[in-house]
Amino acid sequence: MAEVRLNHVEKAFGKFTVIPDMTLTVPEGSFTVLVGPSGCGKSTLLRIISGLEMPTAGEILIGGEDVTLEEPSNRGISMVFQSYALYPHMTVAQNIDFGLRLSKTPADERERRVAEAARILALEDYLDRKPGQLSGGQRQRVAIGRSIVRQPKVFLFDEPLSNLDAALRTQMRVELAQLHQSLDATMIYVTHDQVEAMTLADQIVVMNKGRIEQVGAPMDLYDRPETEFVAGFIGSPKMNLFPASAIGRDDAATIGIRPEHIRTDHENGDWPATAQVVETLGADTILYVTADGIGDMTVRLPGHMRLAAGERLFLTPDPEHLHRFGSDGRRLTS
Ligand code: ATP
Repeated sequence: MAEVRLNHVEKAFGKFTVIPDMTLTVPEGSFTVLVGPSGCGKSTLLRIISGLEMPTAGEILIGGEDVTLEEPSNRGISMVFQSYALYPHMTVAQNIDFGLRLSKTPADERERRVAEAARILALEDYLDRKPGQLSGGQRQRVAIGRSIVRQPKVFLFDEPLSNLDAALRTQMRVELAQLHQSLDATMIYVTHDQVEAMTLADQIVVMNKGRIEQVGAPMDLYDRPETEFVAGFIGSPKMNLFPASAIGRDDAATIGIRPEHIRTDHENGDWPATAQVVETLGADTILYVTADGIGDMTVRLPGHMRLAAGERLFLTPDPEHLHRFGSDGRRLTS
């Protein structure tokens, strides 16, 4: 395992600058997740770290060593893609072994590493099958196996679970967390999935237009977003954000409140509102309401709540959990 450091990395495609100036440290052994809207440069950053793409300026250090000009194969990294890129005519064992065979690793060592990877990934019973005879989750495990046998210092994952159905994603998410614990490797992971980011990451990097908005532990980003952008991006359902002028008496430009930090009542409360849509999820109820003079708002309540569209109610935000942002989009303290 190794630390990954980006020093003032810049990337432009022709005249189009995707990453203007990025400095980031991925601690040794961490599980670092990159999130951000489509097109913000997550995959480009991963490809720069892997060496598949050259930065226009800046340097990349892996384990303290400057690898900016190194070939991908000399960087001690391994990348797992969304499309597993398995060879259909080869067996699972041959697919896992493929990179090792190219690297001229001795046969007995190759055999030992393939067996070890198969054990870690619970693929021992499938080694003689072809990829076409496997489920999506098993195929993804083969792709990960191919990375493990190369014993990289750093694993890079580009949305590895996005082709799987919801149940398999959950299972593979747990398996990836266990894999990280057992290999103790540095992992850098790109995803669109909030749950994956929140549950897998030691550190989340929120990107916006090629820049870092905030880096931090998942719950720190959730509880204390430093910018309005992070406030609106981290969390599902999203934080309610509305102009401070709508509630008066505040020097902030924007106020934020998470859906679970609003209470409802039929008699009293701060903000009169009308229920629009009620979603019953089982353990939770999500209410979409329109607060008079403020706008649309989402409320999350524990348990099952009986409420009809059109019903009038009152909302009361928990004052301890109000987030305030200035006109520059930055968090205001107090
Ligand atoms: P998504 O979440 O949709 O996968 P992303 O955050 O991974 O997006 P990138 O794939 O890194 O974003 O792309 C960042 C920007 O760079 C996009 O605007 C994209 O069109 C542009 N881009 C990526 N690769 C190239 C290329 N080879 N040539 C020109 N532009 C590119």
